[in-house]
Amino acid sequence: MSSDDLLPEGPVRTCIGCRKRAAKSELLRVIAGSDAHGHAVVAPDPDGTAPGRGAHLHPTSGCYDLAVRRKAFSRALFPSGRGGEGGLSSAPVGDYLDSHHNPATNPA
Ligand SMILES: [Zn+2]
Repeated sequence: MSSDDLLPEGPVRTCIGCRKRAAKSELLRVIAGSDAHGHAVVAPDPDGTAPGRGAHLHPTSGCYDLAVRRKAFSRALFPSGRGGEGGLSSAPVGDYLDSHHNPATNPA
């Protein structure tokens, strides 16, 4: 336990990619959703308002990559295994990050 770390103010969440803690406002929330065919997918929830189970991730391709390789999405969002090991698609999050190249800028 190191409580001496400088943590940002406000709610703090752990990035499922790099496993570092960061202010919730710096992280992209992702949720368990389904595509048009009813398959389980990971969907971005940039407003953080969608109901249900969510996980948090730095909005960078690096952390996204780590999360994919660690199967962190399915573990965080489908702990019961409903997402399956190969069947869970996180493509919507990848697409979202592709179209938002700039890291979230916080005017505050
Ligand atoms: Zn991260």
